[in-house]
Amino acid sequence: MAMDGSIGGTPPSFRTTCPYCGVGCGVVVTPDGAGGMQVQGDPDHPANYGRLCSKGSALGETLSLFGRSLTPEIGGVRASWDEATTLVAQRFADTIAEHGPDSVAFYVSGQLLTEDYYIANKLMKGYIGSGNIDTNSRLCMASSVAGHKRAFGTDTVPGQYEDLEDCDLLVLVGSNLAWCHPVLYQRVLAARAKNPNFRLINIDPRRTASSDMADLHLSIAPGSDVALFNGLLTEIVKRDALDADYLQHVNGFDDAITAAAQDDPAKTALTPDQLTAFYDMWIGTEKVVTVYSQGVNQSTSGVDKVNSIINCHLATGRMGRPGLGPFSVTGQPNAMGGREVGGLANMLACHLDIENPAHREAVQEFWDSPTMCDHQGLKAIDMFKAVADGRIKALWIMCTNPAVSLPEADAVADAIANCPFTVVSDMFADTDTAKLADVFLPATGWGEKDGTVTNSERRISRQRGVLPPPGGAKHDWDIMCLVAQKMGWEKDFDFASPAAVFREYAQLSAISGAFGRDFDISAMSYISDAGYDALEPVTWPVTEDRVGGRFFEDGHFFTPDHKAKMIAVMSKAPKTPVSAQYPLRLNTGRVRDHWHTMTRTAMSARLSQHIAEPFLEMHPKDAQLRGLTPASLVRVKSGLGECILRLVITDRVGEGSVFAPMHWTGQYASAGRVDVIVEANTDPISGQPESKASPVEVLDLSPAWYGFAVSAEDITPETAYWAKARANGGWRVELAGLSLPSDWEAYAKALFGVSDADAITVSDPARGIARVALMKEGRVIAALFTGPEPVIASRNHLVTTIGTENGGAVLAARPGEDQPDQGAIICACFDVGVNVIIDAIESKGLADVEAIGDACKAGTNCGSCRPELRTILDSLRQQEAAQ
Ligand code: SF4
Repeated sequence: MAMDGSIGGTPPSFRTTCPYCGVGCGVVVTPDGAGGMQVQGDPDHPANYGRLCSKGSALGETLSLFGRSLTPEIGGVRASWDEATTLVAQRFADTIAEHGPDSVAFYVSGQLLTEDYYIANKLMKGYIGSGNIDTNSRLCMASSVAGHKRAFGTDTVPGQYEDLEDCDLLVLVGSNLAWCHPVLYQRVLAARAKNPNFRLINIDPRRTASSDMADLHLSIAPGSDVALFNGLLTEIVKRDALDADYLQHVNGFDDAITAAAQDDPAKTALTPDQLTAFYDMWIGTEKVVTVYSQGVNQSTSGVDKVNSIINCHLATGRMGRPGLGPFSVTGQPNAMGGREVGGLANMLACHLDIENPAHREAVQEFWDSPTMCDHQGLKAIDMFKAVADGRIKALWIMCTNPAVSLPEADAVADAIANCPFTVVSDMFADTDTAKLADVFLPATGWGEKDGTVTNSERRISRQRGVLPPPGGAKHDWDIMCLVAQKMGWEKDFDFASPAAVFREYAQLSAISGAFGRDFDISAMSYISDAGYDALEPVTWPVTEDRVGGRFFEDGHFFTPDHKAKMIAVMSKAPKTPVSAQYPLRLNTGRVRDHWHTMTRTAMSARLSQHIAEPFLEMHPKDAQLRGLTPASLVRVKSGLGECILRLVITDRVGEGSVFAPMHWTGQYASAGRVDVIVEANTDPISGQPESKASPVEVLDLSPAWYGFAVSAEDITPETAYWAKARANGGWRVELAGLSLPSDWEAYAKALFGVSDADAITVSDPARGIARVALMKEGRVIAALFTGPEPVIASRNHLVTTIGTENGGAVLAARPGEDQPDQGAIICACFDVGVNVIIDAIESKGLADVEAIGDACKAGTNCGSCRPELRTILDSLRQQEAAQ
């Protein structure tokens, strides 16, 4: 590899890192010279060894400048960088002068690079003098951070990814690893195929793609994780499975087991046989890795859940050795980097503590800064409450979309809109949040940015800027330095490059090492620009004595007496109980092919076709109780507001629970922002909000008509419901209205904004059905299909008809005899639909996922769809057996 990260070839290729999830896969990109690039997995990156999931594979499809905003704006009017940064510096300085440092705040993102985070943290904590910088990672893994600190003294992930391959039992708790960390999951499945002793347990109230591949799925009652792990701890004691030697390095044992014995595993709603099976497998297997994620963290008792898991590992000495240990997987690409560099309001930098005067003094001395925050800042939820009640008067939001992603999202949007001064730096000025800004600053994005990220196993990798910043876009660290310099700190923020920022950060980490903390990368303190450019992925710590490796095998922890601490915890119900008015618990989460608020993934037609609209999963009995039918549209209400979602009736969720994805924004659906109805209840220690247990009720929308449309141009209907997704050659749109138009042809022309188009209309007033194809210059530009029930049409076929010449054939709404309808797309890499897969299984008698791949290529590239292939296979087998 060359010094700039290029690996040769014609045209040259470069090594970089995927910007989506915390797996942190290495990517090899080959720019095409026209703003795009080819993307492949990096075979040499230790996170993925060449694999990529569907999202990573489609990165090249998200680089379009469509929708990018490339000029600063003040009040929606274009401005120069000098004007915009002068105004930001002035307004922040004035606010601080008048109201004090705690009257301003930064809300940042796990999508920022470590160098961006470093500057943001330095500016806020060491120069402005407030702790009011928090990150959207607060929503993702703050409970794991707090749990680690309680148990280990520092926020330390003990293990490495290879432990998930080397174990004999992998327990997934509140983690749909198959969809949310797909490449790590593929590594697990590959290891399982080689190890006949390998077993997988999935603990999740909902049956997910990860449950489908598990040897044991435990559908516990929502929020009962602590009761389960307290039950396990009690059983460990009962069966004398403790590691007495390791417990010499652990405090808190007696209190923890006393509390555990008082808890009641029956709260899990598991049967005694299920509990025994879990205890037998966990206790009876030495090499156990327990992976936990948002299902654990996003809870009002998330920290206790984390510690209930760690307690079991400490009690049995299953810690810090190959193939065993507790393992938190982070959601975002640089959530871990943010944790290290001080992106959370309650941490200083390099895992140093705000409350520790010696730590503060050392960092202030290192920075030679004029001030230093001496108390924790406001965590995300409290920060936006302070914006709402006027305590925060100047707010800078970077690279994130809280008007969609924070609980009580409408209140958050109102708070931002009413804040006296809001700055948003982002790639897009039309996000739900950026639209509310007083000042918009255009930032660079993936492919353009240069810096480092840290993944879930503490591995620092380079993200390389291989495309020039488009238009006037600037890097986040550079934008902040411009503002900081205009606030009077020229010398302290005079960085020439991200390499210079990284060097200062690495030097600061030596202080952490000197205090005996875990995070120390001081061996990279004097890395040259060329060395930084060529930096290979490396797991911290990186010191003269040590590079990477596991923590805690030796029983040395980062507490004052160097012992770990088991924490006495008791299970608690979610904060707000269900009621007669809101009797269902809403669980929110991710889908396979979208990321966060879809600002990037929705640009890819390929990714958008897997699941093209927001939905609600509901158990058949709950649907029957309410008279709801499959694919109808439902109003999901809480005390805060309502969403309108497509109903999926399935026993994947238990009775009394419903599930909805958290991705959809006001840009892509009329009422799909689920965080509008999620209460902002938080864990009292971590401040992480509960996103898995909001009480709701579900009612039929009962629209007068349902519709489906395809359009060459982007449209935003004015109907009771719409949801749109990109498709090859245009858009696909789901619609519904509360009153029937008198003239469908006129309605269609108005909907698509083409009054001069030629129309071909077929209608059946008796059945309430209408179909309209609109043509221009002999080609289909749009089509609308409506009826009193959810429209049955081959959607994947219809999107291919845009631009074709036979409008009459389009109205058939399905392909001709010679073009079989392949159904909903399962394999996004090769565009393989469910009907093709079923046909291959049935006609060729296929028996496993590999055979499906051989027959129709599905699942043979990124592998993200392999769990769904297995589900299809299993369901066909069950149908056969039932016949
Ligand atoms: Fe990106 Fe997928 Fe790897 Fe996550 S698993 S880093 S989304 S390629």
